[in-house]
Amino acid sequence: MKVVVIGCTHAGTFAIKQILTEHPDAEVTVYERNDNVSFLSCGIALYLGGQIKNDDPSGLFYSSPEELADLGADVKMLHEVTSVDTKNKTLSVNKLEDNNSFTDTYDKLVITTGSLPIVPPIKGMDNDNVYFCKNWNDAKTLFEISPDKKRVAIIGAGYIGVELAEAYQRNGHEVTLIDGSDHIMNKYYNGEFTEIIEQQFSDHNINLGLGEQVNELVGDAPITVKTNKNSYEVDLVILCVGFKPNTELFKGQLDMMPNGAIITDDYMQTSVPDVFGAGDSVAVHYNPTHSNNYIPLATNAVRQGILVGKNISKPTVKYMGTQSSSGLKLFDLNLAGTGLTLDAAKAAGISAKEVTLKDNYRPEFMKSTTPVLMSLVYNPDTRKILGGSLLSEYDISQSANTLSVCIQNGNTIDDLAMVDMLFQPQFDRPFNYLNELGQAAQAQENN
Ligand SMILES: Cc1cc2nc3c(=O)[nH]c(=O)nc-3n(C[C@H](O)[C@H](O)[C@H](O)COP(=O)(O)OP(=O)(O)OC[C@H]3O[C@@H](n4cnc5c(N)ncnc54)[C@H](O)[C@@H]3O)c2cc1C
Repeated sequence: MKVVVIGCTHAGTFAIKQILTEHPDAEVTVYERNDNVSFLSCGIALYLGGQIKNDDPSGLFYSSPEELADLGADVKMLHEVTSVDTKNKTLSVNKLEDNNSFTDTYDKLVITTGSLPIVPPIKGMDNDNVYFCKNWNDAKTLFEISPDKKRVAIIGAGYIGVELAEAYQRNGHEVTLIDGSDHIMNKYYNGEFTEIIEQQFSDHNINLGLGEQVNELVGDAPITVKTNKNSYEVDLVILCVGFKPNTELFKGQLDMMPNGAIITDDYMQTSVPDVFGAGDSVAVHYNPTHSNNYIPLATNAVRQGILVGKNISKPTVKYMGTQSSSGLKLFDLNLAGTGLTLDAAKAAGISAKEVTLKDNYRPEFMKSTTPVLMSLVYNPDTRKILGGSLLSEYDISQSANTLSVCIQNGNTIDDLAMVDMLFQPQFDRPFNYLNELGQAAQAQENN
């Protein structure tokens, strides 16, 4: 079996390892246009914020071309796939070092070409001081230039923009965070949560330009960011307005979502036999709405990569879908969420209600305790849990994971209210705060 894998960051790396584990005799060729594999982009902000051990970013890679070659893969770094013919199972490849092109064939194709940053149609976008934050090349550039750039504007207040804002502030930069929405991270959390983070950002002198559309970037050094309301003079602009699937090569050949995310079945197979996809280039099955969705996260990429390996010769293990769980630590606050917000549920046409509760995570008789702000989104007709958010100085990340499992398993607010959870005053009360959240939803329904 001759397998060609296109792209080798997370989905590609995990797919290759799993294919070679399941099929040691498979002939696996990997084409990767960059000079590295498996870079954890989540480390960019951590490095910039001075939170990486020994200030050494090498730990942000968990594999290497050498490791994959030792496992038996034929690893072709700095090779870009320029076209694919899925009918005839052929592809064209450009060797970037000498610009030499050649063709190759496959029995099975794995598409792990990932995503590209969205470039908004802003006047002056070709400015030399505008940067992206996606891969290791972007990271190296940002690490190199940032010390000399005092004033930083970040356009886009999703989770990447917010993490970068915090990181640059930690490192003594003057930071402006701009977003067209009235709240940061409005896709992931409701205003009650994000207002607390916004206040914390303001307390740390991060300048928030919320509800502002960037119209134009003018000048070079400094550069002026002109929005519909303000002008900001800065030394560096980082664009973080989102990602789109990098699937141009397959347009017209494979079924896709309107944004270009490749649609796969439960076994990661695309609409064309012997062509598989995983990671940011494909749609996910989003369990809260039971529909395809585009959610570019490493969590999905690594799981789908493994499933490609398990299913490459025959459908074997099904994809479980995702709740799009995610978490952040911003200054002293931990924020984690899973599934739908109330607004997202309504936009998806799902009957939904939300309950919010604030309580200390453990008893007041302990020398210390701290409040947890929680919200639960559920369907009042079926009582099933659709989403949840938590915010605290206490580490609540595993509680978001618990809610994720509840959504995955179709649990109701009644299940959450009474499900067995440990009690010990070091950790919680006779009812864990998640039980209490379920009970608050029950009380809301009984009114
Ligand atoms: C700053 C940042 C922070 C993040 N933090 C988190 C986090 O905390 N948690 C989380 O779950 N997710 C996080 N993510 C998302 C996560 O990084 C992505 O979901 C993940 O990288 C997707 O992996 P992938 O392998 O599918 O695609 P990509 O990472 O996009 O990799 C695709 C690869 O394919 C190669 N390629 C593309 N086209 C070709 C071609 N034609 N020929 C050859 N090679 C090609 C590219 O060079 C690239 O190496 C973060 C992303 C960013 C940018």
